[in-house]
Amino acid sequence: MSKPSRRAVERLIEAAVQAQKRAYCPYSRYPVGAAVLTASGRVFAGCNVENASYGLSMCAERAAVYHSVSGGHDSLAAVAVVGAAAKPCGACRQVLFEFSDKDTDLYLVDLDPVTGRRRVVKTTVFKLLPMAFDPLASGLLPKNPRNLLKRKRK
Ligand code: ZN
Repeated sequence: MSKPSRRAVERLIEAAVQAQKRAYCPYSRYPVGAAVLTASGRVFAGCNVENASYGLSMCAERAAVYHSVSGGHDSLAAVAVVGAAAKPCGACRQVLFEFSDKDTDLYLVDLDPVTGRRRVVKTTVFKLLPMAFDPLASGLLPKNPRNLLKRKRK
């Protein structure tokens, strides 16, 4: 998978910024936006969606991944997460890992809603989840899962 262009990364981050504005978080008041750039060049976004029954709430990262996979795009080139010092939770790291390869970049964007200033930390999905539960290594996947076998895992 080739590295996304600077312009593609900006488009990805902007999609996450816009998604953060749509977060439904009346309980935590902690809005998060996420977006994924697929290997096919599409961008899918998600926001956190909370519920009065707290356990039913969904993180922005998983919402974005499920949006992407539902659209038929299950190979991630890059991911952006926007929020106050936001980082993907453990569950989201594992879900991101499922659709990533070793080169899938992860941009953590700390955005000040008042000044508009932002601090971006770039890492990778794999670095964020060392010793992940890997469906390929575990032999859980069939011989031809849609496109996981084409990915660079190491
Ligand atoms: Zn999460």
